[in-house]
Amino acid sequence: MGGWKSSLRGNQREQIIEYIHASNATLGALIEVDIAQGLALQRRYHQGDKEAKAGVESLVGVPLAIKDNIAVEGFQLSCGSRILEKLRAPYSATAVLRLLQAGALAVAKCNLDEFGMGSDSQHSYYGPVKNPWNEDYVPGGSSGGSAVAVAAGMVPLALGSDTGGSVRQPAAFCGIYGLKPTYGVISRFGLVAYASSLDTIGILAEDIALLRCSFQAMRGPDSFDQTTVKGPTKVAQPHDPATCHIGYLAEPEGLEKPVALEYQRSVEALQGLGYTTRAITLPYLRYISPAYYTIATAEASANLARYDGIRYGYQPADAESAEELTRRARSEGLGDEVQLRILLGNYVLREGFQDRYYLRAQYIRKMLRHKMELLFRGIQALLLPVFPSPPFRRGKEGMSDFQQKQADSYTSLANLTGQPALALPVAMHGDLPLGVQLMGREHSEELLMDIALRYRRHYSPSRPPRYPGVIA
Ligand code: GLN
Repeated sequence: MGGWKSSLRGNQREQIIEYIHASNATLGALIEVDIAQGLALQRRYHQGDKEAKAGVESLVGVPLAIKDNIAVEGFQLSCGSRILEKLRAPYSATAVLRLLQAGALAVAKCNLDEFGMGSDSQHSYYGPVKNPWNEDYVPGGSSGGSAVAVAAGMVPLALGSDTGGSVRQPAAFCGIYGLKPTYGVISRFGLVAYASSLDTIGILAEDIALLRCSFQAMRGPDSFDQTTVKGPTKVAQPHDPATCHIGYLAEPEGLEKPVALEYQRSVEALQGLGYTTRAITLPYLRYISPAYYTIATAEASANLARYDGIRYGYQPADAESAEELTRRARSEGLGDEVQLRILLGNYVLREGFQDRYYLRAQYIRKMLRHKMELLFRGIQALLLPVFPSPPFRRGKEGMSDFQQKQADSYTSLANLTGQPALALPVAMHGDLPLGVQLMGREHSEELLMDIALRYRRHYSPSRPPRYPGVIA
């Protein structure tokens, strides 16, 4: 972290820029790099070390990459979609602005699955993203570009969005940390909406101290987002493992062998670090993904109705009527997966059928919230798998879109309940990383980060051999 700061003031800046361009040519993680604009923003908004919130001084000069569905003034805002090609953000998201005020340097926009819909970062109009550990494999998604930018040492810190796992799953696939905060703790103003009741801005980093510091800088109420909440203002003290009870699944369902093995090992590692662990069951696991997709697609069908080809974005040149313009803008401007989800969303919301799908999904959501609240009365954190498989191959040999959807249960749980969850790297499986996640009560981010920090005594991640970065 210190290295990044001093280097950017010195002559290593050129080297970093060169490295970013060279590695990105293969990996496809970034879809816009503009250091000059980043420096201009930093000059305009950085409030100076004295005015910065306590504990966030170390963000000064830290290069930051931002998922391309989060607005950064003067940068593109494509959401990985043709329909928003050439759109430039006139202002910055509150989360970004707070990082700029703390001195961070926005350098790039990250590739993603179109509108955040996907788990492999292969669904972008701007091309696929590759995993820096093995380029034949996916980096996870939908914040795959953000995860790769960090894992490959292009930047130490990136923002993503997590609606059903899109920060945690790519973090796990790339061997870094990924935090989905409590719903409402980080403002969504300037985040392009996918499913508003589930959307959160999340953080990807290779260093917990930096993750914590950026979380502190961004958190808190924002008058531009009425769903924001204050949360505790005091940074929690380091916890004592002896009094911290962590739940785990004695029989986790549906995991591929290497994932099941490393999950079990991470339970033992926590015990070795002095934690009291408690076996629990999640009997309602199979309801999670269907509920998530029902709610997410319903909200997406409403949120994405605004892309009509008239106000901004892609516009077919020779449409003869307004109706044809909108029809063609949407069918030519939106990718297949996005169109599928809009159709699904409209299907579950159609008149007379709401109680069959949408309302049932809402009941499940309510039930999950209640069950998890009860569960967290007896434990402080819950250790869960992130994704049932290790990173999978790109292309036809990988997982189908449908299999990927079924695999979202372990991550989308935290989005349905609104609770925070942190993915952390725990092992390598061959040349690819594996991760687990810690979920907690609302506003328990500090505790989760603290446990992850302690876990480094057992396992501490490294950079991919072919992408060592410029700065250690
Ligand atoms: N994989 C999930 C989906 O495709 C997660 C998306 C997200 O969190 N943005 O919906």
